[in-house]
Amino acid sequence: MSAKLIEGTGLAQQFRTDIAREVKALREQGKTVRLACVQVGEKPESVLYVKNQKRVCADVGIDFQIVQLPDTISQVGLIHKIHELNAAPEITAMILELPLPARLNTFMCQRAIDPQKDAEGVHPINLGLLVYGIAHHAPCTAMAAYQLIKTTGVDLRGKEVTVVGHSQIVGKPISLMLLHDFCTVTTCHVATRDLGLHTRRADVLVVAVGKAGLINSSMVKEGAMVIDVGVNRLPILDAAGNAVLNEKGKKTYKTVGDVDFESVKEKAGWITPVPGGVGPLTVTMLLRNVAEAAKHQQPPIV
Ligand code: NAP
Repeated sequence: MSAKLIEGTGLAQQFRTDIAREVKALREQGKTVRLACVQVGEKPESVLYVKNQKRVCADVGIDFQIVQLPDTISQVGLIHKIHELNAAPEITAMILELPLPARLNTFMCQRAIDPQKDAEGVHPINLGLLVYGIAHHAPCTAMAAYQLIKTTGVDLRGKEVTVVGHSQIVGKPISLMLLHDFCTVTTCHVATRDLGLHTRRADVLVVAVGKAGLINSSMVKEGAMVIDVGVNRLPILDAAGNAVLNEKGKKTYKTVGDVDFESVKEKAGWITPVPGGVGPLTVTMLLRNVAEAAKHQQPPIV
């Protein structure tokens, strides 16, 4: 392997130590630090996710509260509940668990969250502030990718950056963050005609699509920094191409990114692993947003 590994787990731990210290200091000033997780319906896949959120919050001293709402709730009902949480002084930050049932408008619901309590940085005001280089409540995954880039210490000014994917929570915000650092940014998407043309000239390549193997070594510049945001769950196959089953006879899976790690690590200068790269830092950026939100609410009790 020639590329240096940009490892997210250790960096996440460093951030969490600082966040825990900050939360403790806020409490000593008499401030509340409480994250409300709004969940519509109960999907088995999100149960584990929410349990994990609760655990990481507890690790840094953040109170965590699930606000469970029925699957049948109306758009007006959900927005009304969000407004209630906006007005509740004991709630200092909020997450709206996605996906919502298809009949609910996600954008309208996210827009109802008080931007000061927006733990995930998805409110249009917080996204819009990125245009001004203000990232107090930045989208967690984009900020995680940005922090991993910054940890290398590479001077970004003037660098060619290609971002693959233009979603609101990853591709667009990371493009803005790197533009603010005077990178020359190209953002690719599903209509990009020749993806390789853009990825090959990138000094820094950020990939956030959700397609395993989208980027292979022929698409990467020698010595480039490669940040793989993608998370894909693939069945584990044996040498004959058959699914490997566990002791219960169920298929087994592995998690991979969008980048073909094995080939690209021989050509890149820096690379993030999946898992263990952007993922652990994403949840940490959520905790950081929660601490930041609490800091700007409620005067200390004297
Ligand atoms: P998303 O909303 O589905 O966006 C994917 C983006 O990729 C879209 O902008 C899409 O363009 C673009 N795209 C699709 N096919 C493409 C192609 N062949 N070439 C170039 N661009 C293409 O997903 P997301 O929420 O941004 O997430 C992206 C990936 O990151 C997913 O794998 C997700 O699981 C992962 N993720 C990881 C973390 C973490 O903590 N590690 C957190 C969030 C997300 P169009 O919209 O034009 O189709």
